[in-house]
Amino acid sequence: MAWDFSTEPEFQKKLDWMDEFVRAEIFLLEVLDLDWPTLRRAIAPLQEEVRAQGLWAAHLDPELGGQGYGQVKLGLMQEILGSTPYGPLVFGCQAPDSGNAEILASVGTDEQWERWLYPLLAGEMYSSFALTEPGNAGADPTNLTTTATWDGENWNLNGHKWFISNATTSDFMIVVAVTDPDADRHRRASQFIIPIDAPGLEVVRDIGSVENPRPRPNTYGSHCEVTLSDVKVGPDAMLGGRGDGFVVAQVRLGPGRIHHCMRWIGQARRAFDMMCERATYRSAHGSVLADKQTVRNWIADSAAEIQALRLTTLHAAWRIDEEGTSAARKDIALIKFFGARILHDVIDRAVQVHGSLGYSADLPLEFMYRAARAARLYDGPDEVHRDSVARQYLKGYAPPAGEIPTEHIPTRRTAATERFAELLAEQP
Ligand SMILES: Cc1cc2nc3c(=O)[nH]c(=O)nc-3n(C[C@H](O)[C@H](O)[C@H](O)COP(=O)(O)OP(=O)(O)OC[C@H]3O[C@@H](n4cnc5c(N)ncnc54)[C@H](O)[C@@H]3O)c2cc1C
Repeated sequence: MAWDFSTEPEFQKKLDWMDEFVRAEIFLLEVLDLDWPTLRRAIAPLQEEVRAQGLWAAHLDPELGGQGYGQVKLGLMQEILGSTPYGPLVFGCQAPDSGNAEILASVGTDEQWERWLYPLLAGEMYSSFALTEPGNAGADPTNLTTTATWDGENWNLNGHKWFISNATTSDFMIVVAVTDPDADRHRRASQFIIPIDAPGLEVVRDIGSVENPRPRPNTYGSHCEVTLSDVKVGPDAMLGGRGDGFVVAQVRLGPGRIHHCMRWIGQARRAFDMMCERATYRSAHGSVLADKQTVRNWIADSAAEIQALRLTTLHAAWRIDEEGTSAARKDIALIKFFGARILHDVIDRAVQVHGSLGYSADLPLEFMYRAARAARLYDGPDEVHRDSVARQYLKGYAPPAGEIPTEHIPTRRTAATERFAELLAEQP
């Protein structure tokens, strides 16, 4: 019987190296306000070190320059990288590039690999992914209205997208647009690769948000409004087959969601560490916070929740490795909404234990808190994932005979009385 929670010693050594490297080299960068070109210069030598360690782009198979580690090992790595916003970037597995590379790898043509995938994997190019539109519910993307029409020579794209992460710092954008308006609603859209400087594509603004109320120009981590006005691209820009837009989107969303959960574990752990450290020395009403029962409850609850998230996430990762992404759909949907709540709650408790210091920008907690709020929205809001989980569980149930609950005690007692009639007759 195989049921093993251990990590191979060789791989554990790599994880230990990563942990030290991330804390010593990448945490430092967080506290500087670097624009995108300067950030790229700052991380270039770190990316070299990661490559030298054989840890670059670990989400991809070896023929694409990755390590082919699979999702469980990747999960253990992402826990470490996710503790800081720049961790994945330094290790070449940041969203949305990792998901976009997965799409390109799975459905891209040879030419698309040469022009877009290899430079993306090498860290020479960056990308964005444009699905959501301000005028339509992103929770149900089959309603999207951005169009791509064929004029006999080119595709002409027109539409309005928003919350497109990293659009300002990307070199190309994968755009989902309706090519077949009369087709079945899941077959209406296709995906296109558009260079960011294509005439007609305008990144209108980096949208101020809870995460970043006053965005600075040309910085990493933008969420942008984008318009497409008669953007012309040749037939070679279509990514995947015509009408495959949503099928192809699933290629990135399944692993993309689990990668978010893996990174949230790292974020939650970092908040947990800060909470515990503070509790050891902050004193109020005659004792340190660590002696207060409420604080101890928060610590215990947080530890239990992080552990639950970790095990459910690694289990979903194991299922992807063993049975494929589609077999793990229910598990991924479950951790997506469960993880978003745990991330929020642990950070919230850590802020509370730190009082005004936790609320201030003198600790990373306030940024982590703001960023965590988005986890309940991006890659599908909580409600949609909950609904999906419940629906999939309900498939395993049917109404009982005569609509009498299976566990109905009087009914079961009648059956038991018949079966044990002899025994009962002997009972005084
Ligand atoms: C930080 C951040 C980064 C993002 N990055 C990108 C990106 O790079 N590219 C991209 O294309 N998009 C991106 N998005 C957009 C994101 O995917 C959408 O916000 C999300 O899919 C929800 O769509 P919506 O905002 O249109 O909300 P709506 O679809 O309007 O949903 C609003 C609310 O309605 C409720 N709801 C919806 N459906 C149901 C249901 N079936 N049952 C019950 N309640 C329901 C939920 O409470 C939901 O929160 C990003 C969003 C954020 C916040």
